[in-house]
Amino acid sequence: MSLRIVVCVKYVPDATGDRKFADDLTVDREDVDGLLSELDEYAVEQALQIAEEADDAEVTVLTVGPEDARDALRKALSMGADKAVHVDDESIHGSDVMATSLVLAKAIEKTGYDLVIAGMASTDGTMGVLPAILAERLGVPQVTLLSEVKVEDGKVTGRRDGDTASETLQASLPAVVSVTDQSGEARYPSFKGIMAAKKKPVEELELDDLDIDADEVGLEGSWTAVDSADERPARTAGTIVKDEGEGGKQLAEYLASQKFI
Ligand SMILES: Cc1cc2nc3c(=O)[nH]c(=O)nc-3n(C[C@H](O)[C@H](O)[C@H](O)COP(=O)(O)OP(=O)(O)OC[C@H]3O[C@@H](n4cnc5c(N)ncnc54)[C@H](O)[C@@H]3O)c2cc1C
Repeated sequence: MSLRIVVCVKYVPDATGDRKFADDLTVDREDVDGLLSELDEYAVEQALQIAEEADDAEVTVLTVGPEDARDALRKALSMGADKAVHVDDESIHGSDVMATSLVLAKAIEKTGYDLVIAGMASTDGTMGVLPAILAERLGVPQVTLLSEVKVEDGKVTGRRDGDTASETLQASLPAVVSVTDQSGEARYPSFKGIMAAKKKPVEELELDDLDIDADEVGLEGSWTAVDSADERPARTAGTIVKDEGEGGKQLAEYLASQKFI
């Protein structure tokens, strides 16, 4: 039977652009350029490598995001994924990690899966907790932060590198894994891949399709809320220490006054 891999990919605001909050203190996703979170490209790469090793496998990329999030799906399809699922519903606006994970879990259950692969963190929220919450919601094992991953005999095995040791972890499928930016360079889409992606299916889902009520998501259904946000103050001019014989002492005094030493 085919190995069904679902990769969670997030469409994030471009970190090189100006990012701001909207009036309701949610991230402004309308007026900024976005892209596939770079850390999720590693997840797509690992899914494609596992699929290439397997006799029969299908890679589905999944995003919860606004209309433009389709760009992130297209990129993943052009890298080689087989099909995509896009959950887009006005009521999702303002959903935190708890609400987002609910939507992802329901979409994954509807799609069908043996293995879910996520990135180590998104490049905008950077919470790094979604894969663990997702596994809990799906009721399956989680093997997170892997720098090496392979699937064999109905099990997923991976290596997690710590500061002083590496662990080898294993779980039976179905399972959720997340992969780090050390898991292997993500491939560039080829011209052929970009052309092929245009014809690959993208399933559009709304909350009704997933049996989720509007009040379970969005600002209302979220467990966390942003109370206030302030613009970062403009940079002030630095302190210049002129060396007229006492430079070293002044430098040490300055570092001590800032509690660096
Ligand atoms: C339109 C929209 C509005 C939102 N508004 C808010 C808001 O106001 N406040 C708030 O707290 N959060 C909001 N979110 C949710 C937020 O952006 C995150 O998706 C969620 O909080 C998870 O946190 P993270 O990105 O830090 O996850 P992490 O735990 O850092 O993500 C790890 C991995 O989970 C997967 N993942 C995460 N998010 C998604 C996704 N959306 N689709 C597919 N895969 C994903 C990726 O593989 C990622 O690498 C909104 C999301 C959307 C789409």
